[in-house]
Amino acid sequence: MPIQLNDTFTKELPADSNLNNSTRQVTKACFSFVTPKIPKKPQVIHTAEETAKLLGFDKTFLQSEAFKNIFSGAQTIENSQPFAMCYGGHQFGNWAGQLGDGRAINLGEITHNGERQMLQLKGAGPTPYSRSADGLAVLRSSVREHLCSEAMFHLCVPTTRSLSLMLSGDEVWRDMLYDGNAAFEKGAIVCRVAPSFIRFGNFQIFAARNDVKTLTELTDYTIDHFFPEIKSGTKEGYIQFFKAVSERTLDMIMHWQRVGFVHGVMNTDNMSILGLTIDYGPYGWLEGFDPNWTPNTTDRSHQRYRFGHQPQIGLWNLYQLANALYLLVDDPKPFESILENYKRQYIKDFRTMNKSKLGLKVEGPKDDQLIESMYNVLLLTEIDFTLFFRELSNISKADDSVTALKKIASAFYFPTALIETVKEQWEEWMIIYLKRLQLEPSDDVSRKAEMKKVNPKYVFRNYMAQLAIDKAETGDYSLIETFYKLLRNPYDEQPEHEEWYAKRPEWARHKAGCSMLSCSS
Ligand code: AMP
Ligand code: MG
Repeated sequence: MPIQLNDTFTKELPADSNLNNSTRQVTKACFSFVTPKIPKKPQVIHTAEETAKLLGFDKTFLQSEAFKNIFSGAQTIENSQPFAMCYGGHQFGNWAGQLGDGRAINLGEITHNGERQMLQLKGAGPTPYSRSADGLAVLRSSVREHLCSEAMFHLCVPTTRSLSLMLSGDEVWRDMLYDGNAAFEKGAIVCRVAPSFIRFGNFQIFAARNDVKTLTELTDYTIDHFFPEIKSGTKEGYIQFFKAVSERTLDMIMHWQRVGFVHGVMNTDNMSILGLTIDYGPYGWLEGFDPNWTPNTTDRSHQRYRFGHQPQIGLWNLYQLANALYLLVDDPKPFESILENYKRQYIKDFRTMNKSKLGLKVEGPKDDQLIESMYNVLLLTEIDFTLFFRELSNISKADDSVTALKKIASAFYFPTALIETVKEQWEEWMIIYLKRLQLEPSDDVSRKAEMKKVNPKYVFRNYMAQLAIDKAETGDYSLIETFYKLLRNPYDEQPEHEEWYAKRPEWARHKAGCSMLSCSS
């Protein structure tokens, strides 16, 4: 099955004239041509059928030698011009200069059913943007990226997709915990798929270098291909573009808050211009509710990217994008008003999202207080974020507070802590919630169905990822397939998979890879 590419990025934007694969600063260019490293012994571990469908790939092709070779980097697609993008970014609040695709190589664009998709290998060798690193990725981080991006898609969270997970057959030297205990790990390659992998940082790098010409070209390209409703080449268009990016960014983050996803490294180079969740690194899922939690050990002291701070960081990142696009508009006011609107919209969206999680459709006189007090009681004693909201849907209008509390009891990590003032405060909240439910015209059955559409039953819990990885390290890929299938229907009951609808086991509380991850990948 020959792959028909329909490239625009490399055809319409300026290329780096240097064709050597040497680490360097690349100026006045959006990308550098580079070919993937030939892997020693590629092996397909898993393919995501649904992403394949998006590209028009059939099963026979997925099982072919050509597929294995192309998506491990062993063979280039006919007439293709693989490339790495140039971008910069703010890392942990500081401008880091040029970063770029240090271990991502774009193979080209496919148009299928009128939709454009870029194919990108992650971990396929060094590029001019690799700085001092090797351009490779290890199995553990690749399993995490492959499964989580697909899980997020099925949770209805905007995201990049993953087509395939392969072993490269090469060994990769990594210090997983940054504690001086480096070791060889299995190298792996994921093929990511998205309409575009352009990030905030792609715009920032040209602004930082005062290269208005390339900045304009990149912005016009992005608008023309991905925001066709906006007119490129005009100040008004650039402002509308920023507004659209701001809206998409907030929408994506509100979905993260809804499902309890913590990205972990919201640097501006990890912010997609299309508002897609991108770069699955030390991400994590809230288990015990804690707004200050971050899975990223590199961020442990400042918790810049903690769960509860993600919407504010989205705003901070948009300020940086605004600073870049300002060069095209020369007037700060429209940007300021869009950023102000982000804050207002966040308050509205936060309310709407929480009301939907609570099963509240109509306006109640004290809904804001109900939401606020819910977040207070959630902090009293450790309670599982996913289980709490899912079990809440089992409450009936006719329940008393004791019965209702019993229905969510399985969500508490230490049910014995539900005594005295903790219990009283939970009961108080439950009484208010039950009273509020009486205002809802819908019956229990339909409310329950609605709540189950926004409160997933199955998320890719941190320890699940680690279990799949531990097995995969021994050559057993069965859990990868199990989780891939399970997470395709995260809102469905799936009684045969009840074992994954459970609180984090205690062994996983402080285990590396489960709730603590470094950026080493
Ligand atoms: P991240 O924080 O993982 O998004 O990566 C930040 C920057 O480091 C990006 O420019 C990446 O391409 C680059 N990078 C991360 N890991 C590697 C690696 N193993 N080899 C080369 N570049 C890397
Ligand atoms: Mg990144």
